[in-house]
Amino acid sequence: MQLALHLMEAAVFQDPAITAEEAIAQVRKAVEGLIEHQGERTSHATCKRCRFPVASVKDPDEDATWVHLDDDYSRGCRAASFGRDGEWDDSLDKQWKAVPA
Ligand SMILES: [Zn+2]
Repeated sequence: MQLALHLMEAAVFQDPAITAEEAIAQVRKAVEGLIEHQGERTSHATCKRCRFPVASVKDPDEDATWVHLDDDYSRGCRAASFGRDGEWDDSLDKQWKAVPA
């Protein structure tokens, strides 16, 4: 539920003119992809830097790795903007990685 809210907020933040139908389709796609790829051991948040939803898989032997919920599960904020929009968001620093807010 928390994840769905984050995804909805991100969809509207990225495209204020988005329709409810389009936003729901984006949320559904992201959630289905997440479940398929990462199972249930995930944490969700909004990226502190680019405000896009991020998730991490907890590995008992390592620190959690946070990725953006774009099509490629990018670590970098700028890469995630390309995966999401099909173009680079130059306002995002190339060094920025997903950081939970
Ligand atoms: Zn980010």
